[in-house]
Amino acid sequence: MIFRRRAAPVADALVVSDRTVRKGPCSCGFVARGVVPERLCADCGDRLLSAWGREERRLLEQHAAYRDAVADVIAAATSAQERALVSKSVDEPMVLAQLARDNAAKALRTLRKKHADSVLPGSLSQWDLLARALQHDPRLHRARSLRRYVESGLGSAQLTRLAWLAPVRVGRGTRHG
Ligand SMILES: [Zn+2]
Repeated sequence: MIFRRRAAPVADALVVSDRTVRKGPCSCGFVARGVVPERLCADCGDRLLSAWGREERRLLEQHAAYRDAVADVIAAATSAQERALVSKSVDEPMVLAQLARDNAAKALRTLRKKHADSVLPGSLSQWDLLARALQHDPRLHRARSLRRYVESGLGSAQLTRLAWLAPVRVGRGTRHG
């Protein structure tokens, strides 16, 4: 398993390179010290998610068939989530959106197994490090979706991003627009 669950994600001296995570506003000390704190500030959480997505894209670029299959899964999940969130006829758009993402996570797990031979385990170390650092984002819905999707392998960063965007979409009032 490339991702280890921990009962209490206490800061475990995760050091993420400055080049990986761009600098910007920070109130948790991560930018100044380069060590992931127990609780990341929102700016660092957002930046780490971007860095995780970039690393995922970089890895997938080396495996065209895997990359294309992941892109199809994410595109389908994105439109299914969009349909759920803008629908005026459903009672629980967030539940339907989650269902769409859970189906995508299942498809990603199948792809991970199918392409297991083409991705060397060691090549995922930075991807794994970023995913573990993101565990320190204290926002609850983020932690939940991260746990839900990260074990699906490559594509998880994009799927987690989709989950994190869902409340924003609903908050914009698209549902009742
Ligand atoms: Zn910070």
